[in-house]
Amino acid sequence: MTPPILPGQPYFAYRDNALFAEDVRISELTRSHGTPLFIYSKTAMLSALASYQRGFAGRDAQICYAMKANSSLAVLQVFARAGCGFDIVSGGELERVQAAGGDLKKVIFSGVGKTRLEMRQALGAGIGCFNVESEAELDVLSEVAASLKLRAPVSIRVNPNVDPKTHPYISTGLKGSKFGIAHEDALRIYQHAASLPGLEVVGIDCHIGSQITETTPYLDAVDRMLDLVAAIEAAGIFLKHIDFGGGLGINYSADDMPPEAESLWKQLLVKIDARGYGNKKLMVEPGRSLVGNAGICVTEVLYLKPGEQKNFCVIDAAMNDLPRPAMYQAFHAIVPTQRPAEEKAGITYDVVGPVCESGDWIGCDRLLSVAAGDQLAVMSAGAYCMSMASNYNTRGRAAEILVEGAEVHVIRLRETSASTFQNEKLLP
Ligand SMILES: *Cc1c(COP(=O)(O)O)cnc(C)c1O
Repeated sequence: MTPPILPGQPYFAYRDNALFAEDVRISELTRSHGTPLFIYSKTAMLSALASYQRGFAGRDAQICYAMKANSSLAVLQVFARAGCGFDIVSGGELERVQAAGGDLKKVIFSGVGKTRLEMRQALGAGIGCFNVESEAELDVLSEVAASLKLRAPVSIRVNPNVDPKTHPYISTGLKGSKFGIAHEDALRIYQHAASLPGLEVVGIDCHIGSQITETTPYLDAVDRMLDLVAAIEAAGIFLKHIDFGGGLGINYSADDMPPEAESLWKQLLVKIDARGYGNKKLMVEPGRSLVGNAGICVTEVLYLKPGEQKNFCVIDAAMNDLPRPAMYQAFHAIVPTQRPAEEKAGITYDVVGPVCESGDWIGCDRLLSVAAGDQLAVMSAGAYCMSMASNYNTRGRAAEILVEGAEVHVIRLRETSASTFQNEKLLP
């Protein structure tokens, strides 16, 4: 009986019907560390990164890992040691980069709502660039930097406004999005930025959306960005770098067929070269595509609950551990950690967690042959899972393990209930 194709292969794969992470048997990890348990493959992370590195080989390029996808310190260390910079969206994320030993000059700071405090913190740390998202933010950043007798390096995030009809998954690079500034306002706002005393204009950036599985939106965005670069430089404002953002998708299921980072960037570079910008410093901000398929979440089946309309498979992981289905109706493949030796007829279940919300489901209408006590692996759980996890229902966050070959590192201890309320105060 041939095992199904798994997202995350070959780093997560069956050997004699038992699921492994690299050379480590999943059931051995759960025996020692319990469930729910996040398990990451370091080799999968480095291999995803290598695809970008091959795509940019021979170029002046900087890959800034968008750490909101997974900001666990050991994950940041993996990317920092491999030479990555970081795309951060808060002062808290900056402190994580510092704690993980990342290169602060390779940090870029995105986000629509940076506070003055965060600006001072990032200026003090000497980050590489502020990706500014509005005219009002430019004015405040200039004022804050000038008050410290500094000039803040800035890039302005522009919305390439690529056609939503042909590319429905793009949601952040459109008119009407809270992110970035409109394409048609860009030149005027660049001229304003160049006139401010506390700023040094260094680049331009965009980020058109997430889980993009087609090449065309990127090709369109590159064209729109390069039109702007030409207009801005014609006005006498030199741009050292062009940052194309992140957004490349992964295969959560066999229906998703995103391009490889390497082939995507080879195609985009042909266009960038043809338009004469191939010698500029090029930056990207990938998040999901570096970590999404490098992690799984292993959970135990607590109860099977047959019903008239639906059968439920109740597991010990929930929306507080795996928020993507509840937030985005997202799909994660769910597979047994131990496959039966012979094919058994399955039953269709909704796989749900213990949290008191109807939205607390992890998978709908899944054909499974399971019993209480079995373990299931929720695949593609490396991105936007632990970093979005909460303590809802006073559930401590899961533990995290990083595997490399046969080596196992505990990178986060399971949170105790007491630690979830340690900052609270009883009334006198
Ligand atoms: C979230 C985000 C990214 C990363 O997006 P992915 O889809 O995870 O690659 C990059 N840049 C910015 C500005 C973001 O907000």
